[in-house]
Amino acid sequence: MAVHIVGSINLDIITSLDHLPLPGETVMAKATARLPGGKGANQAVAAARMGAQTRMVGAVGNDDAGRWMRERLARDGIAVSGVVALEGVETGTAYIAVDAEGENQIVVVSGANARLTPPGPVNEGVLLAQLEVPVGALLPVFRNSKCIRILNAAPAVLAADVLLDHVDVLVVNQTELAAFACCGPVDALPAVVREARSLIRHEDQAVVVTLGARGSVAVKKHWDIHVPAVPVIPVDTVGAGDSFCGALAALLDEGRSLAEALPWASAAAALCTLGQGAAPSMPMRAAVADLLS
Ligand code: ADP
Repeated sequence: MAVHIVGSINLDIITSLDHLPLPGETVMAKATARLPGGKGANQAVAAARMGAQTRMVGAVGNDDAGRWMRERLARDGIAVSGVVALEGVETGTAYIAVDAEGENQIVVVSGANARLTPPGPVNEGVLLAQLEVPVGALLPVFRNSKCIRILNAAPAVLAADVLLDHVDVLVVNQTELAAFACCGPVDALPAVVREARSLIRHEDQAVVVTLGARGSVAVKKHWDIHVPAVPVIPVDTVGAGDSFCGALAALLDEGRSLAEALPWASAAAALCTLGQGAAPSMPMRAAVADLLS
């Protein structure tokens, strides 16, 4: 079958600085890099490298950055015919400044991502989306698709609440859990399980909460598990959540159960933290299988 990803496609422009600029201050960069980004594109790369037949649906501008992003996705074997190039709008761009301690400031220009129009329904495999594209573009596809529907509710755009009735697997991190469950910070596992369960809208729906170095928790109405993280010494945790979601989608597309798929997602995300950046550090399936064996 296939993993169909509906989501954002960004060019990430990363500058390394000694310190982040204060308001009104100009700081000279020590180095710059252009990397593929956007949660949708990152998760597509993660799914494709796990061996899934992967189809990207999204929007870029009719510009150099858009052509470059399509080409980068295609290089990972991702089908990009569903990526439209729109006139009169630029490709989404994230301007990321990172200081010597790894602290960052990020400004995102949504560009073409904000103009994505609703794609047609997905009737095989897995649908996977995030919240860097308009909720209005996602609602029809979640409502009408007959497949496994995964929503990574990141960032925490609360208008996405209307999608939750039409989701089979909801994936959130702790910040997003607190936002959607309208509770304060939740840390202890029993509280995480309780708040995750409060987001369940229908029988058989699962909510997965990622907990960084503590792994993840998956909750259904009458069932829950804690999947520990694979212990590693991270270099850069950017993209860990995207790696997790892409790998989870790939394994569910193969017909694995959630309990079988989660250790793969956890191992993929751990490997992702060992490299710089998001898409470039998504691991290949063989490396993930090695780590699990
Ligand atoms: P996000 O990046 O979206 O905030 P998390 O920080 O919860 O998400 O990370 C997503 C997943 O990545 C975790 O569930 C875990 O499996 C893995 N992960 C994150 N940080 C680490 C770490 N320090 N060591 C091992 N695995 C990690």
